[in-house]
Amino acid sequence: MLHEIEPHKLYNEFRKQSPRPTDFLVVYFGDKSLLKKNGDSFEIPKVADFNREDIPCHYLFSIDDAAYFLADLSISKELVESASDDYVLCPARTYRYMGDPLLRLGGATAAHIAHWESQNRFCGRCGSETSRSDKERAIVCPKCGNVVYPRISPVVIVAVHNGDKLLMAHNIDNPNPRLFLISGFVEVGESLEQAVHREVLEEAGVYVKNVRYFGSQPWPFSDSMIAGFTAELDGDDTIHMQASELSEALWVKREDIPEYETDVSISCCLIEDFRRARS
Ligand SMILES: [Zn+2]
Repeated sequence: MLHEIEPHKLYNEFRKQSPRPTDFLVVYFGDKSLLKKNGDSFEIPKVADFNREDIPCHYLFSIDDAAYFLADLSISKELVESASDDYVLCPARTYRYMGDPLLRLGGATAAHIAHWESQNRFCGRCGSETSRSDKERAIVCPKCGNVVYPRISPVVIVAVHNGDKLLMAHNIDNPNPRLFLISGFVEVGESLEQAVHREVLEEAGVYVKNVRYFGSQPWPFSDSMIAGFTAELDGDDTIHMQASELSEALWVKREDIPEYETDVSISCCLIEDFRRARS
């Protein structure tokens, strides 16, 4: 999964430090990151790539000894406009397809933080201009004291088993045509398990029992934390698909499920676990 980078390690505690020429510099502008073309793929630029002294930027985290910095919003536009043709503004999902798992996690996590910062330039309570806290990863309002922490929205995803069949679905918003699992954001006032029951009933029209926790993963592309579950069908297996959310929802026999890559998403791990009859 995205966060599984052992024996490497993400050091995400808050601290202040100065950039070195070899550190990564994420430039975020208009919900996109400035990346460097390398043949058919992209790289995250380093501080030295910009050939400038004292770029206004701040430390985010490190993976092993590689530190990630984010260019301040005040300079992002200028860096984008002065970049050569080798640089392209790319959506955060571009990081997902990077071959190096360390860059994949580092880039996506940096974009998550950058997105949060860009959404909180002004206080939601009093409208004043905000600033970054110098004590923790937070945005503070100097006028009214409002404190805003990074947005991490909980999501549940569930592999519903029905004997040797798995409930699989395709979300209408997903450009990937493959079948995945039922998932959705947790609503206010409910537990993760209650969200599982509700989402399966809403999207597929069936009831589940024996909901069991499988694992979790960060999903920076939607500012989320995904909790994965397995569950068993409870009662009638007739699917009533929610057409506003899904284009397909069906029971797929174990032997008809193709292999899924398990190096990025918990969804694929849950599917593979069922396909290989491990759960
Ligand atoms: Zn305020």
